[in-house]
Amino acid sequence: MTYSDATSPEELAELRRRYRAERERRVRPDGARQYLAADAAFGYYAEDPYAETPRERHPLRDRVDVAVVGGGFGGILAGARLRQQGVGRVRIVEKGGDFGGTWYWNRYPGIHCDVESHVYLPLLDETGYVPEWKYSPGEEIRRHAVRVAEKFDLRADALFSTSVTSLTWEETAQAWIVTTNRGDRFHATYVMTATGTLTELKLPGIPGIERFKGHTFHTSRWDYGYTGGTPDGGLTGLAGKRVGVVGTGATGVQVVPKLAEDAGHLYVFQRTPSSVDVRANRRTTAQDVGADREGWARERRDNFLRIVSGEPVEEDLVADRWTASAGLLEKLLPSFRRPEDRRAFEAAYEAADAAKMNEVRARVERIVADADTAEKLKPWYRYACKRPTFSDTYLQAFNRANVTLVDTADTHGIERMTEHGVVVGDTEYELDCLIFATGFSVGVSGVHSGKLPVRGRDGVELLAALRQRGPRSLHGFTRNGFPNLLQLGAGQSASSVNFTHVLDEHAVHAAALVAAAEAGDAVIEPSREAEDAWLAVMAEDAPDHEWFHAECTPGYYNGEGRGRPNGPHAYPHGAVAFHGLLERWREGSMDDVLKARRAS
Ligand code: NDP
Repeated sequence: MTYSDATSPEELAELRRRYRAERERRVRPDGARQYLAADAAFGYYAEDPYAETPRERHPLRDRVDVAVVGGGFGGILAGARLRQQGVGRVRIVEKGGDFGGTWYWNRYPGIHCDVESHVYLPLLDETGYVPEWKYSPGEEIRRHAVRVAEKFDLRADALFSTSVTSLTWEETAQAWIVTTNRGDRFHATYVMTATGTLTELKLPGIPGIERFKGHTFHTSRWDYGYTGGTPDGGLTGLAGKRVGVVGTGATGVQVVPKLAEDAGHLYVFQRTPSSVDVRANRRTTAQDVGADREGWARERRDNFLRIVSGEPVEEDLVADRWTASAGLLEKLLPSFRRPEDRRAFEAAYEAADAAKMNEVRARVERIVADADTAEKLKPWYRYACKRPTFSDTYLQAFNRANVTLVDTADTHGIERMTEHGVVVGDTEYELDCLIFATGFSVGVSGVHSGKLPVRGRDGVELLAALRQRGPRSLHGFTRNGFPNLLQLGAGQSASSVNFTHVLDEHAVHAAALVAAAEAGDAVIEPSREAEDAWLAVMAEDAPDHEWFHAECTPGYYNGEGRGRPNGPHAYPHGAVAFHGLLERWREGSMDDVLKARRAS
């Protein structure tokens, strides 16, 4: 059955039935427990394939103004904004061998950013850089991260190939003691954590996974020594090889076309198809994006944020499939505008959703020649249930004679693995190489991972405090009991699909707090009352999206099918309003977070 313009009540009812059936087919009783933390399962995955052997150095015992945990865009932006506030000693501590964070680790063939580069790459106005492509390849983004770090002179004090192992507040020093896996033990008056959200890579807990004797790796630790080539392709090492890839999310969609070009035969093991929309990547020029005007990048970035946050604009500057589908992002983000007439809104929303997903499914039919393969590649769920993807080469790859789609939905994923390959149903697929594009554990990076204990005032442990008192903060950045600790990109703020923009606003805010604390000889620590007030703001208008996610096909957006907690975990009026609120708050006295420093 095809649904070209399914907006009649009967057709919507049929779609609802179909979506429910697909969800039932996919949901597993073990939920998020079906995955393995990769480094716990296989030592190989913990290694850094891109770093030279870490240089020997003496452990550090000194004191800095700010220690920043994480050298991705969050940490780099924190450093840049601190520099603009005149803060001197900023030490970024980074597990990888250089700056870049997710763009350091993810170098798989085909890697691109799926948000427009002119709004995704931060500080374009300040660096004078104009991205070459509408959607940048990963390497251009990684180089920009390095460019920003170097422009703001963050390299000299940075520690690479180094993981922070503990943070302990020392009352007498009015500072944090930072320890690392390289023997460092130094003091930092302030600590900013910018540890990302999707950093701990995961593998499916497939029975027998450890028995496989072929070559195997995760997409975020690409082994070019084995495959040959570069992120642009040319994977000559795969010639004549039987290659499998598990996972068809945002990563799988980018990597499959490149593997298809060079593998002897490629088996794509799919459990849930992604929605794959038009990409239309192209080279851009400074004139295209108006880069001859001062402040062009900020203006464009603000315009994009307004659109994807449901705010009115006069013109859509980016004009891509994100902005075209912005109305459907309502359920994707925990915070968004709230409709006046809920029932009318939900009906219109469902109809628009059906039209969009029909268009996505019709595109599969148009592109994929084999009818059975096309049927399996059609996504049967609502648009915001999974992160939408964009590609003009992914669906086309399935028209190649050397590519086979193996649908594993009926068996809830790959059933088991043997020494030789992968078993689905009655078939064993013998493979020389199996690549996991299976993503990352959500919400367990950095201070939430359990690997980085944080002891605040009176030795109170952060994770224990979160368990006991629930998540409490002021604006998502600071917590009572944890002086001078600022968390960037964490919950209880407002997010966006353009995460670097969010991180930059957080960096601006956190740097301003540090500057104010320095100027006022104060420590940064919100009162319990300030936290209570923030919880109340979030709870007051919290949107009810739980029902939506409870009906979605499983994935990391809904706790693998459980639905997601509807508590006050985000600012309910969206990112634009949140950034405005922060700006107004900074213009005030800040006295609900600045406390007189205790005499040491
Ligand atoms: P995802 O978690 O989105 O996808 C993992 C894939 O692995 C899914 O297709 C999943 O299927 C599949 N899978 C898991 N277990 C099994 C199993 N046992 N058998 C078969 N298949 C299995 O990870 P990604 O790395 O693709 O993306 C993670 C996030 O990273 C994205 O959502 C996005 O935020 C970000 N990203 C951003 C990019 C960008 O351009 N900005 C590019 C790439 C990633 P199922 O869906 O059924 O669970």
